[in-house]
Amino acid sequence: MQPFSYMRAGTVDDALAALSQDARILAGGTTLYDLMKLGVEAPQRVVDIARLPLRDIRLEDNVLVLGAGVRMSAAAEHPDVGSSAPALSEALWRAASQQLRNMAALGGNLLQRTRCSYFRHGAPYACNKREPGSGCAAQDGLSRHHALLGGSEHCIAAYPGDFAVALAAFDAEVEITGPSGARLMPLVDLHREPGSEPQRDTNLRPTELITAIRVPLVRAARASTYHKIRDRESYAFALVSAAVGLEVEGSIVVDARVALGGVATRPWRSREAEQVLIGRSFSEGRAREAGIAAFSSARPTGHNAFKIELGARAVTDALMIASTRS
Ligand SMILES: Cc1cc2nc3c(=O)[nH]c(=O)nc-3n(C[C@H](O)[C@H](O)[C@H](O)COP(=O)(O)OP(=O)(O)OC[C@H]3O[C@@H](n4cnc5c(N)ncnc54)[C@H](O)[C@@H]3O)c2cc1C
Ligand code: SF4
Repeated sequence: MQPFSYMRAGTVDDALAALSQDARILAGGTTLYDLMKLGVEAPQRVVDIARLPLRDIRLEDNVLVLGAGVRMSAAAEHPDVGSSAPALSEALWRAASQQLRNMAALGGNLLQRTRCSYFRHGAPYACNKREPGSGCAAQDGLSRHHALLGGSEHCIAAYPGDFAVALAAFDAEVEITGPSGARLMPLVDLHREPGSEPQRDTNLRPTELITAIRVPLVRAARASTYHKIRDRESYAFALVSAAVGLEVEGSIVVDARVALGGVATRPWRSREAEQVLIGRSFSEGRAREAGIAAFSSARPTGHNAFKIELGARAVTDALMIASTRS
């Protein structure tokens, strides 16, 4: 690990000033320090934002506002989160471990990097995300945990987080502040597909800070769930996950939300699955049809084709649970 200097920001302006001098944000440090130890990241300066006043959770009209500095455990346990959007608290409860959730902040959680082993461990493996132009060892290597949606010939690394998947289902936005002021960005635009530049994970500028997350509380968010399938029941990343929400009137679906995790290069909203459901009567058969539609454009590699059926089943099961909450 290379030496680096550490400063603690007392205000958002302090943090922005440090960012303008090439510092990296440090929230809980559970990703950043990990990647620094592996030599993937080597910032010369870090600016700790743990003491900034970004730890509020509040309801503003019909929008749930979560400060970027809120700890994952605090958001998971908060009654307003659980009652207004159960998929969000379930995604947080099913992520990492209690110790990690106590340390890690929501902003840091959104910006965690892929768990692709070739990326994390580097040489002798080629990795375009780690070293642009070097190749992608996963294309012909072990790809069980890799993406079948949103990949390119340059990178198929899966986005590993849970919370952002649940946010993607409900049109969440991130509040961002930077040298030219504040802006809002749809959560689905925060993360990038790799294309020919896998080294760029997000559309956030290096001088910007996420300050909050805003979630419109539509009725489908109240009747929502997050279903996560992994190799072991706790403390593991998703092989496949599905965040879904339903609004049903009589037997007709008037709103449906479906987002996928563990199978795509970014949090993946599945409009194909939603279109199968909206305006039609709900049944287990329809839920299954939606699950299959969610993977209609999947492009599997050598070891991950099993995720198509697993994912279709995850979506189906999640929709059946959500239908009981609608
Ligand atoms: C063993 C293990 C298992 C895990 N399992 C899961 C899991 O199942 N599901 C899951 O979702 N996650 C999992 N994680 C990941 C974990 O949730 C993340 O490490 C954590 O959420 C990162 O948050 P942090 O506050 O520690 O971020 P940090 O490490 O402090 O920061 C992460 C990145 O975000 C940037 N950053 C942080 N805050 C901001 C901000 N406000 N604005 C701009 N940039 C910012 C930092 O500069 C850095 O690049 C696991 C981690 C480990 C180590
Ligand atoms: S999948 Fe992406 S992160 Fe993994 S080795 Fe290939 S380029 Fe690197």
